[in-house]
Amino acid sequence: MKTGLKAASLVLMISMLTACGTDRDSNAPKLTNPKSSTSRTHEETSTATNANGTNGSTKASDSTSYSEKTPIKSDSPDSKTAESSSSKISSKSDSASGIQVVKDPTSITVLVNKTHKLPDGYVPPHLVYPKVAFPYSDLIEKRMMRDVAAKALESMFAAAKNDGIVLYGESGYRSYIRQESVYAYNVKTKGKAQASIVSAYPGTSEHQTGLAMDITAADVQDDLVQAFGSEPEGKWVAKHAHEYGFIIRYPKGKESITGYEYEPWHIRYVGVKAATYIYEHHLTLEEYATQKENS
Ligand SMILES: [Zn+2]
Repeated sequence: MKTGLKAASLVLMISMLTACGTDRDSNAPKLTNPKSSTSRTHEETSTATNANGTNGSTKASDSTSYSEKTPIKSDSPDSKTAESSSSKISSKSDSASGIQVVKDPTSITVLVNKTHKLPDGYVPPHLVYPKVAFPYSDLIEKRMMRDVAAKALESMFAAAKNDGIVLYGESGYRSYIRQESVYAYNVKTKGKAQASIVSAYPGTSEHQTGLAMDITAADVQDDLVQAFGSEPEGKWVAKHAHEYGFIIRYPKGKESITGYEYEPWHIRYVGVKAATYIYEHHLTLEEYATQKENS
């Protein structure tokens, strides 16, 4: 098991994808977002249609210029090799895919990863627009979060501001429908093997829970890059996020467990109690879930 994990993690390190970056193939079909020329983030192909039917991001043109210098690595772990300590966590079996369907999709501590998927078509309850700053102005799908997480995000951003730290939301909720259409497109154009490398299998993106948000700051030009973790904003978030119920979901050094690269920008709401425990014990959500399972 240990050896298997090691081997798997090696493969992961060689070909790692951002957890958020599951559908950013610029050739993928877009609903309305015209930002395909940028390598800005995983989000560029995941923007949903807004009320105007336009992407209309006021900073879209700005982002084009700054996005080109800091592309996120676009490689990906093969989900089949992403064996983690969580693989025996309570879920009922899915089809032949080896991916399990989570039993408690609405739980704020639900584990969603490459081996644990949300039920097909799952839409989280009470999606709202958090009242925090975004580097674009439109009320589009990816701005949304579940209300409980949105409130926590607002509190956290306000506290950060009090400490002179200015944070921006970038990308939260991503619908199953959106994920599915991107994945299906990639299967059609690239084949199944490649599709699972460049896009998340529908239901396995944590963004679909409505409990995750990618955040950023001016210091990294509103981009989603690992450098965020070294900036004052990223450091503040790493230190204080748990006080508001958030964890850094993909920490450094835990890549073989989460199956994803270090992502200082991707925060996940799990509630203050769980977040504090996870923070104090330097755990991942996978490890936390395993502990809960065994206790
Ligand atoms: Zn993310």
